[in-house]
Amino acid sequence: MTDSDTDTKETGQAKETGQAKETGQDFIRDIIAADLAEGREKTVITRFPPEPNGYLHIGHAKSMCLNFGVADEFGGHCNLRFDDTNPAKEEHEYIDSIQADVRWLGFDWGDNLYFASDNFEVLYGWAEHLISAGLAYVDDLSPEEIRDYRGTLTEAGRNSPYRDRPIAESLDLFRRMRAGEFAEGSRALRVKIDMASGNMNLRDPVIYRILHAEHPRTGSDWHIYPTYDFAHGQSDAIEGVTHSLCTLEFEDHRPLYDWLVDNLPVPHRPRQYEFARLNLAYTVLSKRRLIELVEASHVAGWDDPRMPTISGLRRRGYPASALREFINRIGVAKSENLIDMALLEYCARESLNLVAERRMAVLDPLKLVIENYPEGESETLEAINNPQDPSAGSRQVPFSREIYVEAADFMEEPAKKFYRLSPGREVRLRYAYFVTCREVIKNEQGEVVELRCTYDPETRGGNNPPDGRKVKATLHWVSAAHAEHAEVRLYDHLFKVPVPGADGNVIDDLNPDSLTVLKDCRLEPNIAAITSGEAIQFERLGYFRADPDSTAEKPVFNRIVPLRDSWAKLQAKT
Ligand code: ATP
Ligand code: MG
Repeated sequence: MTDSDTDTKETGQAKETGQAKETGQDFIRDIIAADLAEGREKTVITRFPPEPNGYLHIGHAKSMCLNFGVADEFGGHCNLRFDDTNPAKEEHEYIDSIQADVRWLGFDWGDNLYFASDNFEVLYGWAEHLISAGLAYVDDLSPEEIRDYRGTLTEAGRNSPYRDRPIAESLDLFRRMRAGEFAEGSRALRVKIDMASGNMNLRDPVIYRILHAEHPRTGSDWHIYPTYDFAHGQSDAIEGVTHSLCTLEFEDHRPLYDWLVDNLPVPHRPRQYEFARLNLAYTVLSKRRLIELVEASHVAGWDDPRMPTISGLRRRGYPASALREFINRIGVAKSENLIDMALLEYCARESLNLVAERRMAVLDPLKLVIENYPEGESETLEAINNPQDPSAGSRQVPFSREIYVEAADFMEEPAKKFYRLSPGREVRLRYAYFVTCREVIKNEQGEVVELRCTYDPETRGGNNPPDGRKVKATLHWVSAAHAEHAEVRLYDHLFKVPVPGADGNVIDDLNPDSLTVLKDCRLEPNIAAITSGEAIQFERLGYFRADPDSTAEKPVFNRIVPLRDSWAKLQAKT
């Protein structure tokens, strides 16, 4: 078995270099394998426990891949549990979206769907159990006073004056809290552990607070709600969870997690293990911050294709397999680090390259007229659908006298190493012919509006002519008369700095150029099959997918990723 420290270091290194791990092994899997081998557990039951207070993001994908992944690998199962203990922020919309996202990512909880709120009665009984055992008390201090009495990291806390009130009095008050007799914040139930503990979480933490809020599932049945710490471990115990895998911020809560299961008549003893959360550069992975973006309309919604949410990535066109591969590559370890978005893009390219059909599209059209091509005529040329997949076959693409090429593929005064179109220069039109630029037409502002060219009929199909002449560039194009119009949306990082909100304000760090809308793009015809939702490659431009905003008259495409592999480049630089 690998020593877990060594393993952490190795995985950390693998992350930095972005190299795939050789095996699926990590310290969590080592712990589980040992628990099974040594008989401490007979089976593996994990849970993915989202709080339904927002949409899932790619950080949650890491938790899902780990929880569902290990359960599957070790022949156990993973529960989907809604940690719905804070009615103020939770909504049905989130419960529905979370289930859809988990399924889309490829995970199946089967019959194992749970809600922490289903356990409210049991949890309440266990709270009374603690009071009766002299291990919990109703505190009349206000939330501010409780905070003040807690002390600091360097100073011990002070006992509340209500800490030693009689058990019967606490029981009575707690029942009346439940009945809704008291105002929010006027009382709380705390467990009695140690106000001088070096771990702040053990300084008599609150386990129930008064909230007169409507709960999405229990309505107005309850006036008190358990805290995360009280609900989580106990829900694990009730569900028979063996390995409760959570992120590192809960490490300091583990002693409380253990204290509670040790002091309650739980049916099963779960254990908590912590791993590093996913941090992704140039974005934020926190529902609280993502909500801010949605509510202040800095993005078009939770599924805005710039969002790091599962629904945003899906709408943009990322395949679920790319997300899973990304999570697999970053691995699971205990050391925090910042992952570059380019790795996710790399995974998308790897997966789309194999399946995405190729088409031609011109995003910024410049008209090219072929003077020696007969007016009013057209022909079709054969184009390969996917060079990675011969079974994808080929298609016929119309060609005629007037076509569009990309404006950026022409330079009147070509820079060094610019081999594409310029006056007098010959280039290949993909699958079509060689053309030579003869004349440049400009408008009154001096902008290039049209290129007059000639073509060589001997190069049909884009083949070299019999005289062996070669060209240095191949351009994509579409036939003007046959082209369909489309809107294309290009995306850049949502934020302009790698760690947004370092000074507390994420809004200031938003990238004003994160979205570019190109309203008059031209596509080769017959894209109907493509708008059905499959990702496609627009040759030379990247991978795209039709957006739900598409209409029959005007398709809208999102660029998922450009073709160029900035990940490899980045690796070379660092
Ligand atoms: P957020 O800060 O986005 O609200 P959270 O931890 O409050 O995140 P939960 O709904 O409570 O969100 O999270 C469900 C599970 O997903 C938890 O087990 C949590 O540890 C895990 N998780 C959340 N964010 C990440 C992340 N960035 N990387 C890995 N796991 C995460
Ligand atoms: Mg949380």
